[in-house]
Amino acid sequence: MSTGVLVMIDRPALGQTGDGRAFRVAAADSPQLRVTDLGATRGDGIFETAAIRNGRVQASREHLDRFARSAAMLDLPTPDPDVYRAAIELGIGLLPDASDASVKYVLTRGDEHDAASGPTGWAFLDASEDFSDARDRGIGIVLLSRGYALDVAETAPWLLQGAKTLSYAVNKSALREAARRGAEDVLFTTTDGYVLEGPTSSVVLRLGDELVTTPPDAGVLPGTTQQGIFEYAQSLGLRTAFRDLRVEEIAHADALWLASSVRLAVAVRAVDGQERPADLELTRQINEYLISRTD
Ligand code: PLP
Repeated sequence: MSTGVLVMIDRPALGQTGDGRAFRVAAADSPQLRVTDLGATRGDGIFETAAIRNGRVQASREHLDRFARSAAMLDLPTPDPDVYRAAIELGIGLLPDASDASVKYVLTRGDEHDAASGPTGWAFLDASEDFSDARDRGIGIVLLSRGYALDVAETAPWLLQGAKTLSYAVNKSALREAARRGAEDVLFTTTDGYVLEGPTSSVVLRLGDELVTTPPDAGVLPGTTQQGIFEYAQSLGLRTAFRDLRVEEIAHADALWLASSVRLAVAVRAVDGQERPADLELTRQINEYLISRTD
């Protein structure tokens, strides 16, 4: 049984007024969502997943900023950062152990038959899965086409590339395809030969003394973990850059990581079954730095 804590957010958007509290603790193991909620029926909403380490949300402001950016891309009301922050604080206080946990917070467009009820929001907090094996040993990945060209965010912004929407069925499907091919994760590529991101992670390549990732204008999520890795790399005197990355560059990379808030940086030790150099010692140092971040 889950030890998770649920906080339902009754006034998730800026400017909403009303009586009663803006949020309340609810039973995580009983139904809270209407079956006509657009988040459930259309995946029409947004979310963030952030790590909680030693009782604090890591990169809290960066996650809330990205949440607001996703809301704007979907023409959703602007989420109220103070309400979400306070709701999550309440939840952290109720976790049996807040030393290594995570929070997923959500905003949906609300009820498709009752627009007046406004957007739906909640935050669900739970203990983190144990990712030590992937962190210590690295992972095998496959390259899978995302089915569009690098300029999709510019040419077809309605596809919402780069927004963290609830429509992750494609991302989950890609992970099942990776499992069918005997790999643990995926790196998406474009039809014109560029590298994008993982289904739930950013990509970072080390090429000599430079760490490189795909720029957000390619329609990838600006990663909070990738940002932390860049900060750490700069403290080591390494250079960092955002630039479009050709698939062929993977073959020349001195190291390659997938990075995400809860799993942290995991070294890629094989791509499409071909072994790649995995810098497990640098990975350990990066993760030590990421875990020690206090905001
Ligand atoms: N890209 C995608 C598509 C993601 O879903 C995620 C995280 O879930 C990331 C990148 C990494 O973001 P972060 O490091 O902020 O967790």
